[in-house]
Amino acid sequence: MDKTIEKLTRADLIGRGCGNFPTASKWQMVKEAKGAKKYVVCNVSEGEPGVFKDGWVLQNHPDIAIEGIKHAIKYLGAKKAVVYLRQDYYQKYQSKLRKLIGKNKIELFKEAGGYIGGEETALLESLEGRRVEPRLKPPYPPQVGLYGQPTLVNNLETFYEIGLILRGKYEKKRLICFSGQGVKSQVHELPENWTIEKMLKETGNWPKFSFFVQVGGGAAGTVLNSKQLQQTLKDIHGLGSIVVYHASEGPKKLILNWVRFFKAESCGKCVPCREGTYRLLEILNSKKTDWQLFEDILFALENSSFCGLGMSVPRPILTYWKNVKKRS
Ligand code: SF4
Repeated sequence: MDKTIEKLTRADLIGRGCGNFPTASKWQMVKEAKGAKKYVVCNVSEGEPGVFKDGWVLQNHPDIAIEGIKHAIKYLGAKKAVVYLRQDYYQKYQSKLRKLIGKNKIELFKEAGGYIGGEETALLESLEGRRVEPRLKPPYPPQVGLYGQPTLVNNLETFYEIGLILRGKYEKKRLICFSGQGVKSQVHELPENWTIEKMLKETGNWPKFSFFVQVGGGAAGTVLNSKQLQQTLKDIHGLGSIVVYHASEGPKKLILNWVRFFKAESCGKCVPCREGTYRLLEILNSKKTDWQLFEDILFALENSSFCGLGMSVPRPILTYWKNVKKRS
């Protein structure tokens, strides 16, 4: 095992996107893949509500993340790296990043827009100048990525953690975004083995009212009641975020917000998601809600959508019904 893979393996670093894939394995796959050229892509799309940790890295420690990207270029012998930035992040941080990049082979790319741009193959389509929609998988980017070449795609927080590992300063912490009712929207760097309860208490965010939370994302995340917070975010999977809701939050409004988000962000490539999210919204807006049909569509979305966006539509709704309030 070479030194880089050994360090990443010892750190037990899991990618900080939603894929929950071990970083060492991904780097090794790209290293071993055959290709005339190799590429590195840093994903800073960050389009999920309640998730703003990459923005925190850009604001506070972009130098550490850039170190991680530079190391990836060198380790893989990559032709270049591209930092794929959400539009507002691009406007706000491009000059700061260009100074840090200097003459290194790292380019900045302004995202076309939309949540689906954060899906790694949709992102590659966008970089190649095509419509922003996911590719059929396999093959996966480590074998066939940008311009058909082996490509390492990691998000900004992952490169930040890699930079810390290289500096010998990694402490198995994770960036957690807190938001919601009665909570100051803020990022905290916390031990990844802390329970959700401990995270809320230690940061002074434990609500003084009856509440429930959504973790792992503000739209696609899992909903838990206040007695289920002995789990860690590693157990739940997903992104580093905790959104707090007052127990009195109306179910219809909540579900409507989630469905509206997914309908707006659906890229329209596949029928279950394009038509399914449209129909879900139609049912919610009708005078008499047909919950059986609503659930049937959720089942179709989970089991036949082309990519993770469609598959994740049922998660917040079904976990809300299971853990907080049974559907009427
Ligand atoms: S699931 Fe939705 S976002 Fe994904 S390919 Fe289908 S339409 Fe596009």
